[in-house]
Amino acid sequence: MKLKFKSLCGIKKNAFKDHFDEIQLLVARPKFVCGKCARVAGCGKHLCKARKLTA
Ligand SMILES: [Zn+2]
Repeated sequence: MKLKFKSLCGIKKNAFKDHFDEIQLLVARPKFVCGKCARVAGCGKHLCKARKLTA
């Protein structure tokens, strides 16, 4: 999957709108949460301070 943004944490509003289809795939089955921004993703590399979800 090719993404134009680095992480979900620093995403701009416009980018979120433009890439909604890709982003919803990244967050549909979250395995990680950002310890700083509280965003979630299936892969830790999309978060600035990824922590594994244990719940
Ligand atoms: Zn973050």
